[in-house]
Amino acid sequence: MPFTALNHALADHILTQLRDENTQQDRFRFLTRSLTHILLTEATRNLPVTPHTIRTPMENMEGAILSTQLTLIPVLRAGLGMLDAALEMLPDAAVGYVGMERDETTAIARSYYCKLPPLQGKTAILLDPMLATGGSASHAAERLYDAGASTVLLICIVAAPQGVEKLGTAFPNLQIISAALDRQLDGRSYILPGLGDFGNRLYGTL
Ligand code: URA
Repeated sequence: MPFTALNHALADHILTQLRDENTQQDRFRFLTRSLTHILLTEATRNLPVTPHTIRTPMENMEGAILSTQLTLIPVLRAGLGMLDAALEMLPDAAVGYVGMERDETTAIARSYYCKLPPLQGKTAILLDPMLATGGSASHAAERLYDAGASTVLLICIVAAPQGVEKLGTAFPNLQIISAALDRQLDGRSYILPGLGDFGNRLYGTL
């Protein structure tokens, strides 16, 4: 199953600050955007490109541009923290939304919203910062494949082994790119060592 944990000094530097409980909201948002840039760079490493001839101020050259328009799908609400950073790098991307809410007693994710652009034959990039049990990400990936997406990439900030295993079994072609693979889930299905509740830290809710 294609799983990549970034092995990158700058990504670790940013992630360590994100994890720190003393990191305040404005800095947390900034660090999320910075790490999203690195994750998206890695996730798009092998996408198909088309030769594209340009003229530099010096001479003609054959460059390369991405062959297809990409679609970004933040999983609401925490994934919204990654969307602006992804759009900075892919300003012409289409955007869809999948809304998932986790029941805090059962840790089971419930879908409350789904709005997708046409995905037939397209590459979709799911933005979901915390891959814990894999419940939300599985539901979201299913919606994208059902809508005809040919390639689905998931970028997350932290992944737990359970979520990676669940997604890998259900969707063998899905590629997961995470800044880190953490140790385990706790009794409430929070990631350890993790960074706490991503949405709460992003939006200041409790
Ligand atoms: N969602 C979060 O925000 N944090 C976790 O640790 C797990 C799921």
